[in-house]
Amino acid sequence: MFKLKLHWQILIALVLAVVAGLLTGRETDVFNVSFFAMYDFVGDLFLNALKLLIVPLVMSSIICGIAGIGSGGALGRLGGMTFAYYILTGLIATFTGLVVVNLISPGIVDGEPAREILGLSAAKGAAAAEQIGGRSASDLTQVFLDMVPPNIVEAAANGQLLGLITFSLLFGYFMTRIEAPFSEHLWQLWQGIFQVMMRITDLVMKFAPLGVFALVAKVVAGIDADELAGLAQTVGLFFVSVMLALAFHAVVTLPALLFFVGRVNPWRHYRAMATALLTAFSTASSSATLPVTMECVEKNAGVSNRISSFVLPLGATVNMNGTALYECVAAIFIAQAYGLELTFATQFTVVLIALLTSIGVAGIPAASLVAIAIIMQAIGLPLEAIGVILAVDRILDMFRTALNVFGDTCAAVVIARHEGEEGILQDMPEQAALPSESTR
Ligand code: ASP
Repeated sequence: MFKLKLHWQILIALVLAVVAGLLTGRETDVFNVSFFAMYDFVGDLFLNALKLLIVPLVMSSIICGIAGIGSGGALGRLGGMTFAYYILTGLIATFTGLVVVNLISPGIVDGEPAREILGLSAAKGAAAAEQIGGRSASDLTQVFLDMVPPNIVEAAANGQLLGLITFSLLFGYFMTRIEAPFSEHLWQLWQGIFQVMMRITDLVMKFAPLGVFALVAKVVAGIDADELAGLAQTVGLFFVSVMLALAFHAVVTLPALLFFVGRVNPWRHYRAMATALLTAFSTASSSATLPVTMECVEKNAGVSNRISSFVLPLGATVNMNGTALYECVAAIFIAQAYGLELTFATQFTVVLIALLTSIGVAGIPAASLVAIAIIMQAIGLPLEAIGVILAVDRILDMFRTALNVFGDTCAAVVIARHEGEEGILQDMPEQAALPSESTR
């Protein structure tokens, strides 16, 4: 029987969601229940189901991945390469943002800082301040303290992926260095957990079209047409700058890396990753998308579990190209609007903090706002200034999260190719077998 591929189903759901969201808006209801509330409910259900998978999936995948890599030397090489790749692409992304925002100068209108035109109202400023809390540059150290959490259960309960990753790395490494019967049993146990988690991911993904429909319809229904028209005049150029920079990274930089370094066909890679990209777009969360990203990279692209189980969970929190780029554009835009002199030192500070915070912030919706608050503080601008970009943040979050996830998948492919893996992105199986073979 003809069955539409999952990414087409999701794409259709996305288009229908835009139509439904526009038609119903926030207020329309049936039997006294608003459509908006229904979208909210179904969307949350889908997000919860995805998040439910994260802790056991991340732990089992990293533990199996690390134990499968074997010697400390091989692990060191893979780790070094992964970090170098992440830092390099993060830097390129941040510079792309810097160049675009300097070229377009969205914060300057007719040669004057656009502060007045942006009309930062007290209400907007207060909303922003509330959302980001009392963040300061000292939060930057907290970000790195999270890598060594004092309590692993608490880290897991709070979705603190960095801490979970450190613990799982250590566990996987030492698991292979204990006596045979114990290490064997542990290997079997974690492999079993991993495979079960992938099966549950399959099940959750069957509901993806419905989940995506609800999430996107909610965003569209929440848009106020008058407010949108006003925004187009004030932050329209900022929006365009972010989109241009994101597009450049997604269709020029990363495909070039795939082609020249990974020696794979970028177009095939886009197609193989379609489901993960659409999920990232709809959820605006790289962490929630992680189970889907792993499925796509292993099943559709054919990257080994050994590489993907290490590179992807780490990438979901550490490698955020879209976020780094966005933070840079947003901070410079606000600085331009406030008439701050953009010296080399200021721009350097912005680039550095954007890169560091993109490594540290969690893969959850609106995480960038917190990071931008840290940058604002460092360059001496009031936190309330973030109120200017608040209204367009959600839409841009969807696009930048898709780029974050795309960056992780490119990393997995390029690193796997560098490690000599063959057969990547050769063909896309309809229903590939689970990555059940021990990769040890
Ligand atoms: N929503 C983004 C992500 O999950 C983080 C951000 O706000 O930039 O990847």
